[in-house]
Amino acid sequence: MTYSQGLDADEPARRRQRVVDDLYLTTQRDNLAFERLVRLLANHTGMPLANLSLLGVAAETRLASFGGNPSLAASQFLTSRVVTRERLQVLADCRPLLPANGRRGAPRFYAGLPVNSPGGEVVGALSVQDRHPRRFTPWQRRALADFGQLVENELRLRSVAVRDHLTGLYNRRFFDELGDREWRRSKRDAFPLSVLMVDIDYFKNYNDTYGHVAGDQVLAQVAGCLRGTFRRAADFLARYGGEEFAAVLPSTDHAGGLRAGQRLCEGIEQLAIPHRGAPRGLVTVSIGVSTADAKAPADANLQDHLAAADAALYRAKQAGRATVISASFD
Ligand code: GH3
Ligand code: MG
Ligand code: MG
Repeated sequence: MTYSQGLDADEPARRRQRVVDDLYLTTQRDNLAFERLVRLLANHTGMPLANLSLLGVAAETRLASFGGNPSLAASQFLTSRVVTRERLQVLADCRPLLPANGRRGAPRFYAGLPVNSPGGEVVGALSVQDRHPRRFTPWQRRALADFGQLVENELRLRSVAVRDHLTGLYNRRFFDELGDREWRRSKRDAFPLSVLMVDIDYFKNYNDTYGHVAGDQVLAQVAGCLRGTFRRAADFLARYGGEEFAAVLPSTDHAGGLRAGQRLCEGIEQLAIPHRGAPRGLVTVSIGVSTADAKAPADANLQDHLAAADAALYRAKQAGRATVISASFD
């Protein structure tokens, strides 16, 4: 996986990287849909090469290709051109444009169509290529556009399957699926990992006071604050239940997990969302933290840590809410 963390990238590039990361996660299981689409595209347009590439922060991810791979340098140059120009690029002979290190074995003809993420950003290119210069007929142009629609539909379906619509965070189902994978990865690398359970305080009162529509807006705001607080690309955030969120923070030790929880608590208070039905008059959250480190039982799995974080969350509620408490295994 390509992590955007630490790279000095502009915001569009970071947003593209998030789409690429999501796709990486969902295509590990099944990349066949994209493979099929580029194969059909090549057959349908009578082109020997077809390719679907996404552009992250620093590098290109080739999602599917048919007929062979042009060099990475050539492919990256062409994909970047489509992404930055945001328009169909038809190059009857692209070779003179390519960087010197990308010319060997590169295609001559190139037609690349921008591919939009479900959020509407251009994240990559769907292209057909040929080893000889050629003309691109209106009919081929139409076919490329149709296949582009199919690719974007597939991206949208995947996004719907893994994301919670209201908050844009991962949904519970995907959390259960991916959380475990991330967990095993951390275990393998023997890095500590912190799990946070976050619950909005007095949220039933909020709905009763301001209505469900306003309640939904608060959920979206709290999710935005989570995203802003946990910015490392490996951090995994999900809407766990109604007004409950879970965060899995790889490479984060106990002190780090607690600090992260405190930053989130403060961040939510700084949103300063008025709440007449809460003693402080503001929307706040309570947080329970559990860390898998040398102090935790060696045989504890992710579910055990989620349960421990949940128990700590319960204690945070008992302690008066708007606070962070970490689980102890003693
Ligand atoms: P506590 O401080 O102990 O957490 O109290 P609470 O009222 O937040 O907790 P409780 O579990 O009693 O109520 C949770 C509320 O969250 C009830 C439900 O109406 C609300 N809720 C759950 N999902 C949604 C949603 O999608 N939209 C809105 N607006 N409210 C939701
Ligand atoms: Mg709750
Ligand atoms: Mg609550």
